[in-house]
Amino acid sequence: MLGFAIAGIVLSAVLAAVIAIARMRGGGSRRRGSGQGKVAVLADHRKRKASERRNSEGAPSRPQKCSYCRKPAKRITMYAEPSGTVVGVCPSCEPLARERDLMPL
Ligand SMILES: [Zn+2]
Repeated sequence: MLGFAIAGIVLSAVLAAVIAIARMRGGGSRRRGSGQGKVAVLADHRKRKASERRNSEGAPSRPQKCSYCRKPAKRITMYAEPSGTVVGVCPSCEPLARERDLMPL
């Protein structure tokens, strides 16, 4: 009987711990204000989008160089070589990349 009692105590202790963890992770944060959390996530998302836009806007001032002719080009198409290397190709070199059977990314 003692074994059963110990098992019962251990089980209830484990259950209590699991419930406590579940409350800390789920119920607690929900009660504290899911609205706040959502706003934070949205704001974070917007910040990320804005930084992405900034990056794309910043691109023309610092044009990427073509991997083939080494000339800076406004539009660089990324191709993956069979070896796994990624190359940026300007529009005038794109036919070369296609001849080499490179995969456009
Ligand atoms: Zn080129």
